[in-house]
Parts: sequence; structure tokens; C-alpha cells
Amino acid sequence: MTQLIDLSIVIPVYNEQAVLPALFERLYPVLDALALRYEIVFINDGSRDRSAALLSAQFEQRPDVTRVILFNGNFGQHRAILAGFEYSRGQRVITLDADLQNPPEDIPLLLAAMEQGHDYVGSIRRQRHDSWWRHWASRAMNGLREKLTHIKMTDQGCMMRAYSRRIIDTINQCNELHTFIPALAYQFAQNPTEVVVGHEERFAGESKYSLYSLIRLNFDLMTAFSLVPLQLFSLLGMLVAGGSGLLVVLLLLRRLIIGPEVGGVFTLFALVFLLIGIALFGIGLLGEYIGRIYQEVRGRPRYVIAAVLEQSEEPV
Ligand code: UDP
Ligand code: MG
Repeated sequence: MTQLIDLSIVIPVYNEQAVLPALFERLYPVLDALALRYEIVFINDGSRDRSAALLSAQFEQRPDVTRVILFNGNFGQHRAILAGFEYSRGQRVITLDADLQNPPEDIPLLLAAMEQGHDYVGSIRRQRHDSWWRHWASRAMNGLREKLTHIKMTDQGCMMRAYSRRIIDTINQCNELHTFIPALAYQFAQNPTEVVVGHEERFAGESKYSLYSLIRLNFDLMTAFSLVPLQLFSLLGMLVAGGSGLLVVLLLLRRLIIGPEVGGVFTLFALVFLLIGIALFGIGLLGEYIGRIYQEVRGRPRYVIAAVLEQSEEPV
């Protein structure tokens, strides 16, 4: 018989050997104090440092509440969390980053909001400790995303969130390769809310996201949840086509009435370059969608698991 579990904590881990000991030290006491039946699901996302060894040592220490999924390679934070969701058994699931940027001590805040009947609890960082360009970029992307996708998240960068079992089950039915979990979950939520949580500097180690991968992530967020970029583009195409049609008519009339023109070569260049630029951007945008379609169609597994460390359910 499966034991009923109240709370699952899902934590993706990628090259976090520097923070893991501190994470264990702070996380377990918080959860033990809650007097809930809980489990912690760590997903080692193909770390190349000693993270896997640290995780299995921790599993040896607390096999009753610890489960470790070891990936075969690096599949990315969101796929790691998806694997954690599939393995999680709790009635409520909380995702947390391994780097201690969100204090585990705030977990009870999320649970309290769930007690009030919310099935999705997002979080807002009280005070951000990120570099200024991260701060600025995420504000800009937040605004754009909200317009395009109608997903309301005050702070999309904060992964400390709580979900009900119903949302997790629905997410587990989705087969998308590229996704952004808080946004996906938001779409299935009936009664979402947000709470303010603490935010600290990364405890140790360094951010796994470069500027480039942040841009990629935001493309995922936009194209996975909205067709508006494509639709805007066809609108723009219509305007440009209309404008250039008008230009043709004007030039034709001018030629018939005044005669052929000589000057204005560079104006012509400018116009042509503008149009080529727009066309190239459009092709790139199409590529974004087609690339996603291609990857979905191939239907490769989202991740490959090398091993799972967990206690067998039947006591021997
Ligand atoms: N992470 C992961 N796989 C990756 C990159 C990151 O599992 O390919 C994990 C990482 O270990 C951490 C979380 O995702 O627990 C967030 O990463 P990070 O703190 O580097 O991101 P940031 O806070 O800079 O956005
Ligand atoms: Mg972080």
C-alpha cells in the first residue's frame, strides 16, 4: 500500500556541490518541524561535479524522506522539475531551487496560502539580489509576456512555488518538450495567488543561466504559450504590402505625368533594406515555431534517467 504523503519538495540540482550541504542543513529541519508526511525529490540534472555523490550520501542519511533521480545528462531545469513531478506523490508539491536564493524557511508561507483554498501559489521576491541587468531584463520580459500570453505572474523568475495535486497530474499529462513550468501550471490553476518570499544572493556557486540562455528561455515562454508573435507578423506584413502597393501606384502616376525620376537611389536602398530586415525577422520567427514543431514531432524522450534512489515501499 502506498503511504499517503502530504507534501513533496522538488529540487533540480545542476553542479551545486558548493550549496548542497547548506541546503540539507536548512531544509530538513524546516520540514521536520511541520509535522507533515513529506518527501524531498532531488533531480540531479547531469552534474559534472560531486553533486550526485552528495545527494546519494544524503539519501543514505535520510532514506525515509529523500528520493533522488539521477539523469543521464543535462536536460535543463524545467525538464528536471517535470521528472520530479512525475515521481512526486505528495498532495501538494513545492518547487525550490537548490541555490538557497529562496529561503526554505518560507515554505510554511506557501502552505498557509494553500490552506486558504488556493491551488497555485506563486511567489514574489521581496528584494531581489541579482545583477542590475537581470533585474531590468526580467521587468521588461514580464510586461511583454503578460501582454502576449495573459499569464499573470508578478515575478516570473522565482521558482519557489506550490501546486496542488490536480495541477501536477494535469502537467504530467502534457508532453511538451520545451515549457516553462510556472506558466504551464498557471493555465491549469483555478484559484491562483501569490505570496512574498525572501530572496538572497546565491549561497555559493554561480548562476547556470547566461544572457543567451535567458533569451532562449523567454523565447520558449513566448512561443510555447502564444501565437501572437506570428499573428502580429502577418498584420505587419499586411501593412507593409499595402504601403508598398500605394508607393507603386504613386510612382507610376508620377512617371506618366512628370516623367522618369533619377535621384533617390539611397532612399530606395533604405526602403529595400528595411523590407529585407523585416522579412528576415519574419523567417526567423517562423523558424522558432517550426523548430519547436520539429522537436515535438520527433517525439524523443524528454529526459533519460540513469538511476533512482529511493526506499522500497514495502517494508521488508
Ligand atoms: N538547474 C538545473 N539544470 C540546468 C540549470 C539549472 O537543474 O541546466 C537548476 C540549478 O541547480 C538550480 C536551479 O535550476 O537549482 C536554478 O538555477 P540557477 O540558480 O543557476 O538560476 P538563476 O537563479 O540564476 O536563475
Ligand atoms: Mg538561482
